[in-house]
Amino acid sequence: MIMSYPQLEISLDKITHNTQVVVGICNRQGIRVAGVTKVFCGHPEIARAMVDGGIDFLADSRLENLKKLREFPLPKMLLRLPMISQAKAVVEWADISLNSEIETIIALSEAAIAQRKSHEIILMFDLGDLREGIFYEKELFRTVEQLLQLKGVILIGIGTNMTCFGGVIPTPKNLSRLLRQKRAIESRFDLHLEVVSGGNSSALYLIEEGSMPDGINQLRLGESIVLG
Ligand SMILES: *Cc1c(COP(=O)(O)O)cnc(C)c1O
Repeated sequence: MIMSYPQLEISLDKITHNTQVVVGICNRQGIRVAGVTKVFCGHPEIARAMVDGGIDFLADSRLENLKKLREFPLPKMLLRLPMISQAKAVVEWADISLNSEIETIIALSEAAIAQRKSHEIILMFDLGDLREGIFYEKELFRTVEQLLQLKGVILIGIGTNMTCFGGVIPTPKNLSRLLRQKRAIESRFDLHLEVVSGGNSSALYLIEEGSMPDGINQLRLGESIVLG
């Protein structure tokens, strides 16, 4: 083939294959995969290859990208903490969002009530990477308490983000801290948290090593699928 201009060739078969491999590794461990589409701006054909590979959620940091994925019958997750000014659009295009600020969650709840929806929240806990999440346990409890009063949102789980800003790598030790916080919330507020979202592609090695703590049941994977 003569290439007359720079081109990026994407092998959809390989994306599907890579997805099947990581989904297989994760599912065997009881972990469901959110396929992260931001690296290709939510291009629907590439997302289709991921969906065919068996992901359970579609996740992106931008609403513009999630919008392009609206035809897929999978839950959509917004990865980046939403702006309050975008609350309406978040509820419109995403079913789930990662959050750590109660002001934002209140705005999401109001937007959800107005749209007669129920928006799902994964509360982020910071295990030292400092990109996002609630840092202190006391603040975590206070946020949960306020969140539970809101009618438009449902707390479905807790999550963390690592290997991003501060370079903190996921380990059995820091992920166990996340699980402890989960159990603490459950017993304090007498509820069940369905999701423990343990991180991005940098956490996969723990499964291969056999040291992924039991209870981590979701990973958000982009790089490991796209690059293999
Ligand atoms: C981009 C992103 C991911 C995916 O990271 P990969 O390293 O590509 O797997 C996961 N979680 C969040 C919050 C992200 O922003």
